[in-house]
Amino acid sequence: MQELLPKARKEFNKLQKRLRRETGQAIADFNMIQDGDKVMVCLSGGKDSYTLLHILMGLQKSAPVHFDLVAVNLDQKQPGFPEHVLPNYLEQLGVPYYILEKDTYSIVKEKIPEGKTTCGLCSRLRRGTLYGFAEEIGATKIALGHHRDDLLETLFLNLFFGGSLKAMPPKLLSDDLKNILIRPLAYCRERDIAEFATLMEFPIIPCNLCGSQENLQRQVIKEMLQDWEKRFPGRIETMFNALQNVAPSQLADTRIFDFAGLEAQREKALSNRINLLDALVTEA
Ligand code: SF4
Repeated sequence: MQELLPKARKEFNKLQKRLRRETGQAIADFNMIQDGDKVMVCLSGGKDSYTLLHILMGLQKSAPVHFDLVAVNLDQKQPGFPEHVLPNYLEQLGVPYYILEKDTYSIVKEKIPEGKTTCGLCSRLRRGTLYGFAEEIGATKIALGHHRDDLLETLFLNLFFGGSLKAMPPKLLSDDLKNILIRPLAYCRERDIAEFATLMEFPIIPCNLCGSQENLQRQVIKEMLQDWEKRFPGRIETMFNALQNVAPSQLADTRIFDFAGLEAQREKALSNRINLLDALVTEA
């Protein structure tokens, strides 16, 4: 980490404290980590996953429960991937780690036509390998570095392009029921994480070594959200609060709210109210 002047050091400490507090809060709110958990931290070499590992290592020392951490990186064989960077860093850090090797780059290149976005298939292949490995090493949780802005971007991506009202949950059971995924940075702002990563001088490995353009739709949404935030400060905060304040009866999904049974619900509510009134009159 770079040498900081006292004022900058104070700011850095504040930033670190905020990231720790928000991460601790998300872990508590969603009961993400329990006593005895073995948490596999997926490390891509990007700012988010480095920050996640760093913050979790800090919390591990002060947490009221005992949990183990293991860092795992998947070398997907993109040309120019600097193989030595992560092992060197993790050795210095003294955290148990594994580097897996799987040439998903060739599969992606073979399957996706030139000029099309490759990130979807690439991430699916990465997920498959990492989930399988978590099982192999007995990891009880898989921690991912997604943050608050990722969650909101996914919400709008699904809303605008996917026709569904869903984001990226802070905690998720995988479809095959084998893994529980956690996103401890779910309450943290991307801006804070980026600043923290710069000050910490993490050895960032870019994700676009494969030559893929960044997912264009996500980029458009990101810029839209940033623009809103600039023009209406606090809007991101408000939108994130909305994710935690959902009213199924005010939407239109018959799978999550029993619109067909409203009449029966009214009868039940009315009879409960009458019973309550009777009890109050008797008591008086
Ligand atoms: S940028 Fe390349 S390596 Fe990163 S997710 Fe997309 S396809 Fe995969």
